[in-house]
Amino acid sequence: MEQRNQFYIDGKWVAPAGTGSIEVFSPTDGALLATLPQGNAADADAAVMAARRAFDAWSITPPAERAAYLKKIQEGLKARTDEIARTITLEMGMPYKLSQRIQVGSPAASFGMYSKMLADFPFEERVGNSKVLREAVGVVVAITPWNYPLHQIAAKVAAALAAGCTVVLKPSEVAPLNAFLLAEIVHAAGVPAGVFNLVTGYGPAIGEALVTHPEVDMVSFTGSTRAGTRVSELASATVKRVALELGGKSAAIILDDADFAVAVKGVVGNCYLNSGQTCTAHTRMLVPAARYAEAAQLAVEAAQAYRVGDPLAEGITLGPLASKMQQDRVRDYIAKGIAEGGELLTGGAALPEGVNPAGYYVAPTIFGQVKADATIAREEIFGPVLSIISYTDEDDAVRIANASVYGLAGGVWSGSDEHAEKVARRLRTGQVEINGGPFNIYAPFGGYKQSGNGRELGKYGLEDFLEYKAMQFRPAPKV
Ligand code: NAD
Repeated sequence: MEQRNQFYIDGKWVAPAGTGSIEVFSPTDGALLATLPQGNAADADAAVMAARRAFDAWSITPPAERAAYLKKIQEGLKARTDEIARTITLEMGMPYKLSQRIQVGSPAASFGMYSKMLADFPFEERVGNSKVLREAVGVVVAITPWNYPLHQIAAKVAAALAAGCTVVLKPSEVAPLNAFLLAEIVHAAGVPAGVFNLVTGYGPAIGEALVTHPEVDMVSFTGSTRAGTRVSELASATVKRVALELGGKSAAIILDDADFAVAVKGVVGNCYLNSGQTCTAHTRMLVPAARYAEAAQLAVEAAQAYRVGDPLAEGITLGPLASKMQQDRVRDYIAKGIAEGGELLTGGAALPEGVNPAGYYVAPTIFGQVKADATIAREEIFGPVLSIISYTDEDDAVRIANASVYGLAGGVWSGSDEHAEKVARRLRTGQVEINGGPFNIYAPFGGYKQSGNGRELGKYGLEDFLEYKAMQFRPAPKV
């Protein structure tokens, strides 16, 4: 069992003021995996004040200097890929091979992207008689979830550091170990003291102490809509900038002219990635009513091809859920889906065959003939549960897709990209995959409606951490 008993504050590993500890459990067998400190308001204050002291100098470093640090962090992540991937697999359950590529590859790429972007990012421009500067917002608190733990950390930390902000990171209590490895890498990269600080603890305690701290200028939050609204309310008292990346209930529309074999498999794969614990997961598959039976059969075949089990074992494609709480929640939703009349086509609330019964496994599950207003079609489940919904025509498909309080992502499948794009333009979501187009870290990531209000990644993510300053000059005298 791993024991961490220090925070990274002001460039040093220090003893916490908080006395409690957090327990991290293994999703594969429920065993105690690690303990780490439970920070309190005094820890929050120490970290924020270190970030505040470091801000003035860091915010005016030449961009090339910040780029060099970011590059070193990227290299540090790459060099420790196997160790970090294994850590994340152990703490939250994603199959190891996928962890290497997604859970470590993507954060390393984000640090690399911002390092490169600093070479020619337009931090100032002339507008008539004004010079408009883009300056760092200030001290940033980054609060992150457990599902893509280091990716979400990197999307905030790399962009904030690139902008010239200093950061206090509070990672999820469910999967925090990777954040300690990042702190080690940041330290080894020689990033000046106080520029990056790490504390851990529970949201309502240290999380709220950070969010209400008067020396914090911005809170960048990724997590549930419930916690995000609380963060927003608390931060409003001191008019902090708040960027929220919240939940989703994304729809994939399969149009009549799509290649069904490819599209259905693509949607099932998207829905089940990371055992369905993906905020952008396409959890509603919308199919033409006349082709429902064909789509349902293809979906069941795709679901049954998944191999569920120990995420460190070779050939496993679906790991356990990250926590017992998450497993219980998802199984409750499955029970509710059945109770509300959804047709259970495969899977269900029972444990999948052959897995360790102490692990947090859920079978790949598909509901057919789901009504658009059923609970499982409206609420974010965050597990491997797909709902198939029939539509009558394209207008109906768009209406169903948009009938959600969320607006994070979606997908459209068609025989032609042009046709898919026409439909995609009508979706009220921050991202749309056209015929399964892959994730792009240079594109803006974020949601419409209750999915949030910021944008991460690409130049858009950097801009979220910048203020504008306009300096007006007297016009040149006429000659
Ligand atoms: P969560 O909201 O429970 O926790 C997220 C983080 O917020 C954790 O670090 C937690 O400690 C902290 N927190 C909780 N309450 C807080 C409070 N009152 N004040 C301050 N901090 C608080 O979410 P989770 O269960 O870790 O993650 C799952 C959720 O995250 C899902 O709803 C998912 O859709 C969402 N998510 C969104 C995105 C996105 O980019 N849109 C990405 C991943 C996950």
